[in-house]
Order: sequence, then structure tokens, then C-alpha cells
Amino acid sequence: MKVIIDQDKCVASGQCVTAAIDVFDQRDEDGIVVLLNDNLPDNLAADVQQAAAVCPALAIVIED
Ligand code: SF4
Repeated sequence: MKVIIDQDKCVASGQCVTAAIDVFDQRDEDGIVVLLNDNLPDNLAADVQQAAAVCPALAIVIED
């Protein structure tokens, strides 16, 4: 599973961090998403799918 984020789309809402705190963080200066790990173990798949689903900017894409 691979995760791709689009920082240009991100609106710094923070839902992804709430859904998957081991995968996403936010920049201190503006809250834009940061990917902590783009090559994920399967046990985090559900959390990342939840993050993608709740992102209001559709800034998270998952590839198998
Ligand atoms: S949920 Fe989407 S818009 Fe909000 S911080 Fe995460 S990537 Fe950015």
C-alpha cells in the first residue's frame, strides 16, 4: 500500500492526523499535511483509508 498526499490541495483541517496519527502529521507553521511514512504496513490500511475518506480536500490518494 502506497500513500500519496497533495500538499497543494490540503486545507490543513487535520482529520487525517486524527484518523491515522502514525502516518500523517501537520507542519507547525501552517498545518499542511506531512506524510510520515509512504510505504505502509497492512495493519495501518484501515486507518489510512479512513483518513482519505474524511479528508475534505481529497488530498490523500491510496495505491495498492
Ligand atoms: S485531512 Fe486532508 S485537508 Fe485535512 S490536513 Fe489532512 S490532508 Fe490536509
